[in-house]
Amino acid sequence: MTDNHPMKILLLGKDGQLGWELQRSLACLGEVVALGREKADLSQPATLAALVAHYAPQVIVNAAAYTAVDKAEVDAATAHAVNAQSPMELAQAAKACNALLVHYSTDYVFDGTGTRAWLETDTAAPLNVYGATKLAGEQAMIDSQCKHLIFRTSWVYAARGGNFAKTMLRLAQERDTLSVIDDQFGAPTGADWLADITAHALVQASANPRKLGLYHAVAAGETTWHGYASEVVRQAKILGYDIKTTQINAVATSAFPTPAKRPSNSRLNTEKLKQTFGIHCPSWGKGVLRMMKEITV
Ligand code: NDP
Repeated sequence: MTDNHPMKILLLGKDGQLGWELQRSLACLGEVVALGREKADLSQPATLAALVAHYAPQVIVNAAAYTAVDKAEVDAATAHAVNAQSPMELAQAAKACNALLVHYSTDYVFDGTGTRAWLETDTAAPLNVYGATKLAGEQAMIDSQCKHLIFRTSWVYAARGGNFAKTMLRLAQERDTLSVIDDQFGAPTGADWLADITAHALVQASANPRKLGLYHAVAAGETTWHGYASEVVRQAKILGYDIKTTQINAVATSAFPTPAKRPSNSRLNTEKLKQTFGIHCPSWGKGVLRMMKEITV
């Protein structure tokens, strides 16, 4: 399934941060049928088997997810349908037509204890509904024994779509002072890089089934939301934005109570990804700078 045998790829969630970048990254691998919510609604899991059978793809890439972490606390049924039941249906459909299923999960499957970067083999214990539904989705795929690649990632940003970096950029142009959490640790990860490594890994795992499985996929280095915001503001000044913020206060998570609990330690160890696929994880700041330049007119 390379140049001589292009893949037929069914991409779900085409308009999300990652889905949009995947449309670009997967295009060189073969025919990509990219569907959004209107054609493939993951809140209706029972519809997915017929959809997959209709397109009969060799690869299914699922970039759709219920990502509203706080809303999931009060809308658990929809979050479960999208993040857990639909991946299960997709896995069973993939198994039925011998397709490879690519899926994404999150640092929020972990409880955030300790300071060590989490390994794929560490025990997951989600703190919130979103994390629990994402973990259930992963487990359903693994249990189905379909051919799969699951990438757990964190703090995703892209030039297209809403994310923390863009919110900070807007607020920094409006306010003198920002207060940002400094006791949650992780790595902002670009959807563009994630899409590119998906294509890279997909080609390799198609040729070598021993490379299938679960991987942590995040940018190199670590920061806090405060460090991330500070970098966004620093870069924005260099790029010529009219920045009003002169002070960025570092505050504890408890300063911003939210419906969903967040893990303090979201560090993910990427050794397995790097060693299996020969993938390089660039430092998180480089990708954020590139995104900032891309959205700067
Ligand atoms: P986005 O929120 O940008 O995109 C999610 C996409 O899923 C949107 O296009 C959304 O459509 C679609 N979607 C939501 N509900 C449905 C539904 N019922 N049927 C069909 N499509 C639906 O997320 P990302 O691109 O950032 O996330 C990609 C993956 O990475 C997900 O698996 C996510 O869980 C994971 N992840 C994301 C993180 C982040 O910080 N964003 C962190 C860690 C992991 P619509 O636009 O119509 O709502």
